[in-house]
Amino acid sequence: MEKEAKIFVAGHKGMVGSAIVRKLKKEGFNNLIVRSSSELDLRNQESVKGFFQEQKPDYVFLAAAKVGGIIANNSYRADFIYENLAIQNNVIHYAKEAGVKKLMFLGSSCIYPKLAPQPLKEEYLLTGPLEPTNEPYAIAKIAGIKMCDAYRDQYGCNFVSVMPTNLYGPNDNYDLQKSHVLPALLRKFHEAKEQGKDVVEVWGSGTPLREFLHVDDLADACVYLMQTYNEPGLVNIGVGEDISIKDLALLVKDIVGFEGELHFDATKPDGTPRKLMDVSKLHGLGWKARIGLRQGITEVYRQHFITETV
Ligand code: GDP
Repeated sequence: MEKEAKIFVAGHKGMVGSAIVRKLKKEGFNNLIVRSSSELDLRNQESVKGFFQEQKPDYVFLAAAKVGGIIANNSYRADFIYENLAIQNNVIHYAKEAGVKKLMFLGSSCIYPKLAPQPLKEEYLLTGPLEPTNEPYAIAKIAGIKMCDAYRDQYGCNFVSVMPTNLYGPNDNYDLQKSHVLPALLRKFHEAKEQGKDVVEVWGSGTPLREFLHVDDLADACVYLMQTYNEPGLVNIGVGEDISIKDLALLVKDIVGFEGELHFDATKPDGTPRKLMDVSKLHGLGWKARIGLRQGITEVYRQHFITETV
């Protein structure tokens, strides 16, 4: 990727897209194109067609998606499948029409079967039923991977797919009904501490295992793979280690400095029992995560909750 190449980052206001933009700017890429959803509705075919015809980007990072935590995915099932399919259909197809040199499609670890062996290897895709709470989202993401591969097969497009594990970092969503577990716990412990509460509610049993990657590490991996990886199929992006929700809650509690108790709310779903990425392919390609979980959460906590209120 040349420094003056025209690079479209779709979804630049989201946690992932904004991290990719930060990374590209830091690396000296100086011809980035971004559009907010009010300027360009990626679900709208005609708008996307017009945008690609006019702009003709050289490279595309497809980080635009409707995303959310376990309750949001399970409640807005139709919106998650429709909006994600629409966005990726439009962007992938018109990227091909505009002769884009390379496109990177970002998926998620929830594309793997619910009860797949752990850690999750890339080859486990489509080997079993999905976790029901986020099946519509996962089906859309699987379609995106297959679409990139089909465009490579039929039209020779260099479209690649990467699957990040659970992410956290700047510009995360802190809405307690829609967010993922890590930002939700940060907010709950912070507010409980501020308000002098004795108990924090943690959803589910606390036993599910999840892996967490700082979004700056993800952006680093994406920019690296955009320049080095040119194959069909998918690449996992993770750290290769996981932690139980209970231990995560204890870690966040410690970082925030909350002194009360945890209460596990069994009426909320656990979701898939474990989703740990196998990162041997990624390591073989020459990339490893650098930001440790305690360090990353501490930074995010300071940035979002401390600096903003000082
Ligand atoms: P998932 O990885 O797709 O299951 O999505 P989440 O990040 O939303 O949830 C991960 C796990 O954390 C699930 O077992 C949740 O039940 C659990 N969890 C515990 N407390 C919370 C919370 O306050 N919010 C969310 N979103 N999940 C929580």
